[in-house]
Amino acid sequence: MNERAFLSQKQAPSVRASIAALVIASILPVASVAAALIVNFYAKERAQLIASSVQQARNIITAVDRDFDGVQLALQALATSRALRENDLGNFYPRAADMVDKLHADSIVLLDTDGTMLLSTRRPWGAPLPRLPKAPLLARILASGAPGVSDVFTGPITRQPVFSVAVPVKRDGAVAMTLNAAITPRHLQRLISEQQLPASWRASVIDTQGQIATRSHEVEKYAGRRLTAEQRRQLEGPADASFETTTFDGIDVFVISSRSPRTGWSALLGIPRQELTAGLRATLAWLVAATVAALAIGLGLAWLIGGRIASSIHALIPAARAVGEAGGLPMPPLHFREADELGAALHQAASDMRRARALTRESEQRLALAAEAAQLGIWIRDLRRQEIWISEQWRRLFGFADAQRVTLADLLARVHPDDRGAVRRTLDKAMRGAPRYEMEYRIVLPDGELRWIGSHGSVERAPDGGPALVRGVSLNITKRKLAELEVQQHQKEVTHLARVAMLGELSGALAHELNQPLTAILSNAQAARRYLARPAPPLDELGEIVDDIIAEDQRAGDIIQRLRRLFSKHEVPRQALDLRPLVGDVLRLLRNDLINHAVTVEASLGEAALPVRGDPVQLQQVLINLLMNACDAMAATPPGERRITLRAQAAGADTVRLSVADRGGGIPDETLARIFDPFYTTKQRGMGLGLSICRNILTAHEGLLWAENQAGGGACFHLCLPRAAAAPA
Ligand code: ADP
Repeated sequence: MNERAFLSQKQAPSVRASIAALVIASILPVASVAAALIVNFYAKERAQLIASSVQQARNIITAVDRDFDGVQLALQALATSRALRENDLGNFYPRAADMVDKLHADSIVLLDTDGTMLLSTRRPWGAPLPRLPKAPLLARILASGAPGVSDVFTGPITRQPVFSVAVPVKRDGAVAMTLNAAITPRHLQRLISEQQLPASWRASVIDTQGQIATRSHEVEKYAGRRLTAEQRRQLEGPADASFETTTFDGIDVFVISSRSPRTGWSALLGIPRQELTAGLRATLAWLVAATVAALAIGLGLAWLIGGRIASSIHALIPAARAVGEAGGLPMPPLHFREADELGAALHQAASDMRRARALTRESEQRLALAAEAAQLGIWIRDLRRQEIWISEQWRRLFGFADAQRVTLADLLARVHPDDRGAVRRTLDKAMRGAPRYEMEYRIVLPDGELRWIGSHGSVERAPDGGPALVRGVSLNITKRKLAELEVQQHQKEVTHLARVAMLGELSGALAHELNQPLTAILSNAQAARRYLARPAPPLDELGEIVDDIIAEDQRAGDIIQRLRRLFSKHEVPRQALDLRPLVGDVLRLLRNDLINHAVTVEASLGEAALPVRGDPVQLQQVLINLLMNACDAMAATPPGERRITLRAQAAGADTVRLSVADRGGGIPDETLARIFDPFYTTKQRGMGLGLSICRNILTAHEGLLWAENQAGGGACFHLCLPRAAAAPA
């Protein structure tokens, strides 16, 4: 994969982005937890504030109740004054006026049961007084006979909002009049002030109708104003309540109210909402500001540090690219110890690579020199890309022009047609299994020159097991091959000459053998002539004589045929043959010689065929040689004991064995290893080539020949041959 493809495959974030993400991931959770803690803290604070405010509201309404009680007591005391009892209102007036000051009331009013104003300290005694249009409190007192407190109403004289505390004045147990103390909102405001509430808070006292009886701020402006329906509805529930609303002077407040069970009046405490949340908001604002500042600093540092790391890495890229190049590494100033260490490692890698390259170059040169000296052609075949790389030496060896592209087909075309199949088979086999192979084949160069090539190759496999690459060397083995062929040729000639020499030794016996049929033919012919000289020649007899002559002639012909085959220099191709008839042929050929040596042969060849593949003439030569050696070895053996035992048998499933044992003196142990050496002989007229040639013949037949001494005396020669698939008919 090239660099660009690698980069486009992985879109990794930059160092700066990664550090920025780290900063954000570190700061934001801490800030969130801090925010949660702050909110929680303020929620508790607020709950505490509300709880303490409820108490303050209760205090206000209790103070109001107490104030009303005080007024009631004072009025009750006034109601028992003598002047009133005696209906002397003129004298009562100064007492009442005196009480106004004591009670800090607006006025004291005496009302008749029908609401007629009998006396009001607001007007001088005797001045005409208005009549009260409505007097709900009066009705209540008349009904209950108990003191009471009115709701806020507009004073008939002052036209200002007031409310009154009234007690009944009884005559003979019945309510005859009511004595009222008119109290102004300003008077009640005092009770709120005593609570010393924060200046920003709004407090008010509300009557049963939801009208403002007094207020901490701007009491004149708002006294008597009725709360909105929604506000009144909020107050309807339990004695202590809380809700959010907007005051008449336009402040958003959190309201805490407490209602008196006696009068039904309520004290309302309005805490500006802004005040409740201001601390929280301010703290949260600080937190946000601190978080933003921390993020800004963190991100700034991320930008700075990330930039320096990135610039160090970028600065190392040209150095990394230049690792494989020849010159020195460009090493810029770096900002980090790790980057310095990486730079040092790149330096090291560059110098290691240079050294490795130098070594590779040197070994390549050495290899090239060796290849040149040994005339080795090197080739590499890339099976995946279907490409062949060849060295110059190889090109020259196979006779390809300099720039010519060479394919496997071109190579096979050079191979000698007789060897092409074998070459192809070897290559195919190497692809399928064995990793290494060796082969020798001929090539025909464009100018017709024949060249022997020795090739060694090895197959390299891909991770999937399939063949990927074949490497190998080829060398010119023409000289060696020609020398080998020459040696083979000489060996053949020597083998033949030895055979001829061997047969020369046999010729006396052979002449004798030929003599027999010739003598028989002669005597038969003479007999025939005699029969023919008769006047009536016996035709039957003559016929038999002619048959005899023909048979004897065939026998002589057979002998001559066998001899001719042995003398022939003509090569007999390898063929499948049975060893048993071959042994029979040899024994027939040697019959006279054996008789001359007074040697008997015991042959046990078994019933089954002994199929082998071979050259029958060469195998006969081996057998004759062994038999003649056995005869020679028994020269000193008494004639009656000269016996050769011939045994043929199958040795295992794949081998056929033939043994020739004699009753001679055996072979001394120290010479046992040397008898197969060429020219080793113990005989006066011996050449010492027989056994050496026999072993060569066996080796060429992929067989073995060896000797051993027998326990009972005499030597035994063993001959092994691979068993052939089928015996000849
Ligand atoms: P040559 O018969 O000309 O000597 P060979 O190669 O046939 O050559 O034999 C080499 C030597 O092996 C012989 O000279 C002989 O000493 C020894 N030799 C071969 N066959 C026998 C045998 N059957 N018994 C004892 N010695 C043998």
